[in-house]
Amino acid sequence: MSVYMEKAIELAKEAGAEGEVPVGAVVVRRSAGEIIGVGRNRRELAKNALAHAEIEAIDDACRRLGGWRLPDCAVYVTLEPCPMCCGAIINARIDEVFFGAYDPKSGSAVTVQRMFELPYNYRPAVTGGLMEEECSRLLSEFFRSLREKKRREKEIFAAEEKFSEKSLDKRIIL
Ligand SMILES: [Zn+2]
Repeated sequence: MSVYMEKAIELAKEAGAEGEVPVGAVVVRRSAGEIIGVGRNRRELAKNALAHAEIEAIDDACRRLGGWRLPDCAVYVTLEPCPMCCGAIINARIDEVFFGAYDPKSGSAVTVQRMFELPYNYRPAVTGGLMEEECSRLLSEFFRSLREKKRREKEIFAAEEKFSEKSLDKRIIL
């Protein structure tokens, strides 16, 4: 259990409610135990490939602290960071990364590659699987309902096609 991951989950749920893949992130100033940046996935709404939860949270924290370095900070994110977000975490000099669900497709902290172990100038510590079950469930439920929606749309489309075919047949007979 972590109050910070709980906040990230809350943000992920907000993203999901907006039709985005539910991912949320917070940046925490460790010594103060204070959340200084929040973000959620806004890729669809922003129509922007950069609008990942971690990028938004880091952006928010940099604005709030008035600098590009985020020392004494940790990031809590519901899904394992992708290569872009791992890069942003390194660039912001964030000390520690906690993530919930592992991402077999683009997780770059430990799954597809271990970016924080590469010989860059800065190496954050990483802990995966924090509140993993809850974070994974959010994602699998989102994708299930998306598939469900697509299936229903297909059925409606097929029914409409049938209907228009029938009316076309009638017109020909008439
Ligand atoms: Zn990312």
